Amino acid sequence: MKKLGFLFIFICFLPLCLVGCGQEKQLNSYIIDAVYDEQNHSLSCQQTVTYVNNSNNAIDELCFFLYANSFEEGKRVVPTSYENRAYPNGQSFGSIDMKCIKINGTDSDFLVSDAKNILTIMLEKELFPNESVVVDLEYVVDLANINHRLGYGNNAVNFGSFFPIVCVYEDGRGFVKNDFSPSGDPFYSDIANFEVNITYPNEFVIASTGEQIESEKKDNQIVAKYRAENVRDFCFVLSAKFEMLKEMVGDTEVRYYFYDDENAQEHLQTATNALATFEELFGDYPYSQLSVVKTNFCFGGMEYPNLVMISDDLDSSETDNYVIVHEIAHQWWYGMVGNNEFEDSWIDEGLTEFSTALFFERHQEYGLDYDQIMDNALQTYKNFAKIYSDILGSVDESMNRNLNEFDTEPEYVNCVYTKGMLLFNQVRQSMNDKKFFACLRDYFKTYKFQNSSPEKLIESFCKSTHTNLESFFDAWINGKVVFQ
Ligand SMILES: [Zn+2]
Repeated sequence: MKKLGFLFIFICFLPLCLVGCGQEKQLNSYIIDAVYDEQNHSLSCQQTVTYVNNSNNAIDELCFFLYANSFEEGKRVVPTSYENRAYPNGQSFGSIDMKCIKINGTDSDFLVSDAKNILTIMLEKELFPNESVVVDLEYVVDLANINHRLGYGNNAVNFGSFFPIVCVYEDGRGFVKNDFSPSGDPFYSDIANFEVNITYPNEFVIASTGEQIESEKKDNQIVAKYRAENVRDFCFVLSAKFEMLKEMVGDTEVRYYFYDDENAQEHLQTATNALATFEELFGDYPYSQLSVVKTNFCFGGMEYPNLVMISDDLDSSETDNYVIVHEIAHQWWYGMVGNNEFEDSWIDEGLTEFSTALFFERHQEYGLDYDQIMDNALQTYKNFAKIYSDILGSVDESMNRNLNEFDTEPEYVNCVYTKGMLLFNQVRQSMNDKKFFACLRDYFKTYKFQNSSPEKLIESFCKSTHTNLESFFDAWINGKVVFQ
């Protein structure tokens, strides 16, 4: 197993080339200088993005997703459906304030949408295919006091999705502008390269995406430099309470950051087991580290490239193990093979939940039986469908809805996670395991470091299994399949 850090050696931080599907692709790059002010719970940032037009069209604007604004006061949608567990000290708000934007060194006008989710920067001249443009952004992120992806809690400070990230451009559609959503993960981004300098008070321990290149102590601060290549996002977590255990899996260092965890060694073991199992099942994890971070978080966990957050508020070690396995599976389904998590959440969550069951099938020591997981899921799903149709007269069982089109959290969880897992189990049952796992590996290999979609997934599965699965997928994702 080779690591990317050894594969790509460049003198300066320029967009790198990847060979995918026979085409050379220039990646976008982000250079971010972030300084954390602990007194004010704010992060001041200078960010330089080199954006490459990889589309077939000339474009005259750039769009960025501003997740940090989902915590703003008076939002149409709340930042999480788990509000009762999110605020440790009462309701709190946060936002991102764009100070200045330059295009190729010249001040530029910009527009933040009414919903505050999208930043649009007009380009002075059109950007043609394969051309690049340099955008400098200066901004301050004010953190809410919230146990969420982005925010400070009583034990740690989470910096998930803190920076403006370029929206994905799709030919024929333009930039895809996701809404905020209280359920699920409203994210969609391209693989890119990151160099991030983080300044933070020296009492903190840091966990981060990527690899630390330098760390220097200045007065009472630490300035740490990180590099992350071929990842679709960048995240870090600070805590003065963190302890850390680590273990190698092949060439990858698996780290477990925690506080108050008497089962820490077991949880590290689960993380190393998960990494090794998924590499064997799907394909290589090509990064030099994976950080599993127990932190203040209002529901199970959250995936970022090379870093997963695990809630410090789970009710048992058994649940901890399940969440650790689930979030690590996302390194393959979301991390390396991306998709629009706002519009097609069943792809990454369905595959991830299914992969979690595959892990327990291979690790009987956890006492969770694969067939039992599927039986329970089917029963849970049927109960949901019956109760909803009894109460409402009918139930929408389609999976291909965006996050805000699910009316309730149970509807989202059952249609996306539970039914998603059952869907992939049904595909598995329809062929022998050799063929099925070859199909999964082929899908991973084809879309590694790219974005998938329902059409691409179905086409890939049909092609590699030499089976026409179109009407099968259509019945499941459009809600037409009937469960006996
Ligand atoms: Zn998930």
